[in-house]
Amino acid sequence: MSVPDDIARTGPDPHPVTGQPFLSPVPPGTGWPDDSATAVTPVAHTPEDVLELAASASSLAEVDARLSVCRACPRLVDWRETVARQGRRASFADQPYWGRPGPSFGDPTADTLIVGLAPAANGTNRTGRMFTGDASGDFLYAALHRTGYANQPTSVAAGDGLALTGLRIVASVRCAPPANAPTPLERATCATWLGRDLELLGDSLRVIMTLGAIGWQGVLAATSSLGWTVPKVRPKFGHAAETILVTPTGHPVRLVGCFHVSPHNTYTGRLTPQMLDEVLLSLRD
Ligand code: SF4
Repeated sequence: MSVPDDIARTGPDPHPVTGQPFLSPVPPGTGWPDDSATAVTPVAHTPEDVLELAASASSLAEVDARLSVCRACPRLVDWRETVARQGRRASFADQPYWGRPGPSFGDPTADTLIVGLAPAANGTNRTGRMFTGDASGDFLYAALHRTGYANQPTSVAAGDGLALTGLRIVASVRCAPPANAPTPLERATCATWLGRDLELLGDSLRVIMTLGAIGWQGVLAATSSLGWTVPKVRPKFGHAAETILVTPTGHPVRLVGCFHVSPHNTYTGRLTPQMLDEVLLSLRD
């Protein structure tokens, strides 16, 4: 499980905030803002590696570092790196692309977790930060600012000064998938990272909000495999749907659903700013 040295990279190109030049995909430990991995962070190449490296990660930061260099899903590794090297959106053609799995973002002491679906090819896969640099993120962070979780309404690039309080964001699949559609095997493999995250949070976790049905199902699968008590009849995802999960120590955790902040939902009015604000504010109840 060593860092591969055969990744063809392009660049260097200047980071949009710091101006530092980076190759694409970005080699770990080269100065990208908030990159918690280094050149010696162990790399998972198989689902079995993910199980081993997640289980032995002793902190949320270590989970983030390890998953941010993960190569366990060949199809997704190929897609994220191909986009980073030669599939860039024209408007970002002169920017470096992260091209790696997206680590969590937010307050490491938070008792509230937002679980999304997966990074966007030209969003998180470019910026290296959850929901950063695309229309979904614009919608989400504006709401997080209105509801008091974010210190600014925009999220342009890692290093732009954005900070969250009382809330952290993860995804149920950490690599950008073709057509936004991870396979069942990819979802199951990546659920191991989410499971370890939840395990390390332990009873400090109070609420999980999922954006979309896949995140909802991912949380139910991850918590079931951790031995949490999940309602016998699996609760169905819906906007503002809610159920209670119970950790092995008897600690209750609210699971709250919210329509995904994708342009498909927000441009059509299926999810409005008011609807999102109401769910976010309810997380404090
Ligand atoms: S989707 Fe998850 S498990 Fe698969 S390569 Fe990416 S980080 Fe690793």
